[in-house]
Amino acid sequence: MTLSFPVEKDCRHIWTPFTQAQTASPPLLITEGKGAILKDANGREYLDLISSWWVNLHGHAHPAIVQAIAEQASKLEQVIFAGCTHEPAINLANSLASLLPGDLGRVFFSDDGSTAVEVALKIALQYHRNMGDTRRTRLLAFEGGYHGDTFGAMATGGRSGFFDAFAPKLFPVDFLPFPATWQGDSAVEEKEQASLAQLDLFLTDHGQETAAIILEPLVQGASGMRMNRPSFIRQVCERVKAAGVLVIFDEVMTGFGRTGTMFALEQVGWTPDMICLAKGLTGGFLPLAVTVCQEYLYEAFLDDGFDKALAHGHSFTANPLGCAAALASLRLFREEDTFRKIETIHQTHQAGLIALENLNLPHLDRFRLCGTIAAFDIDVADAGYRAGIGKIIREKALEHNLLLRPLGNTVYLLPPYCLTAEVLRDTWNRISRIIEELDV
Ligand SMILES: *Cc1c(COP(=O)(O)O)cnc(C)c1O
Repeated sequence: MTLSFPVEKDCRHIWTPFTQAQTASPPLLITEGKGAILKDANGREYLDLISSWWVNLHGHAHPAIVQAIAEQASKLEQVIFAGCTHEPAINLANSLASLLPGDLGRVFFSDDGSTAVEVALKIALQYHRNMGDTRRTRLLAFEGGYHGDTFGAMATGGRSGFFDAFAPKLFPVDFLPFPATWQGDSAVEEKEQASLAQLDLFLTDHGQETAAIILEPLVQGASGMRMNRPSFIRQVCERVKAAGVLVIFDEVMTGFGRTGTMFALEQVGWTPDMICLAKGLTGGFLPLAVTVCQEYLYEAFLDDGFDKALAHGHSFTANPLGCAAALASLRLFREEDTFRKIETIHQTHQAGLIALENLNLPHLDRFRLCGTIAAFDIDVADAGYRAGIGKIIREKALEHNLLLRPLGNTVYLLPPYCLTAEVLRDTWNRISRIIEELDV
């Protein structure tokens, strides 16, 4: 196969993330994005149905965010964030605090989802130490949870199946079974009770030694858009809280409308001690993340000496361009009635899932939906992230001008909110055709 000149150069010097380069198809050379459409160097258009790895919200190159970044860049592009501050950061912290419930309003800035998680874990561990409790050093997480690719995040995502090469260097974490559920799942209650029973046992033995639990509320993203019921998460939170364990919601993927509400915590009906946000924070324009804490956690770090302070920070902490983009993105939620668009996507997804289910294809299973995320599984012998079927579907989808990236045998749609009902209906029709033509 002859590659166009720039793509050949990509293959010469670039190491692509989460990719086995030896067997991967050459990457698409994308030159433009507009709304839900990405255009390649040959002028071919693709619908971005995965919001460019779950980051885009309002569409590519949205003029309001473009303008906000340009204006900010011409005023102040970056400044050290210790000893200096700036209006975009102040305004963003205030906006986030007003969107989040209760005392969840002390904002620590970082760069991406992984760093937001590292910060949360460090705050949790140091909080107990600062309070004079040196026993609470264990961390609790869910099997299948994914929290990023840095070491602390990998340790808490240790059962996601991605990090076996580093297992000897990951600190120990305790894992709970995750009661994944879907439409028409008759065993959900049973699975949840089994998980809660295990949690109770764990808390009896180790509750006093546990610093925090970290979890993805409503949807485990990377392990295959595995969904759970809000009532289950609430019960987990109630039980661990009663044992003095901090609750960290990793809403890096679920935040900013993905699950149908601004944050998944609204549906869970629980205010966690900390929340991690990244991906959609800037509308998908720039890397920026926050770990937002309840005020009492912050207060436990105040002291005359430095020892109790949080010794953490990054070069680009609270980058003004990222903050300006985030503020513009939050404004768009109000100005473009984004939650109406989210509701339309939800309804259209549901119709698409039902139509697909009604085709009665024998190998389709576990149809599920949460806000703007729709998913189903293809039952294959080599199920899981490495399933070959995912790659086949991706290639077939490209022929239909759709950009998908199945998580192994899980096919999902997670589109930008600007996608219209008409285009999404057509997308579901095309997906049905792709699936029907599969040779499974
Ligand atoms: C993507 C993701 C992360 C990691 O975020 P990065 O920006 O890729 O570092 C953490 N947690 C969840 C739930 C995610 O989906």
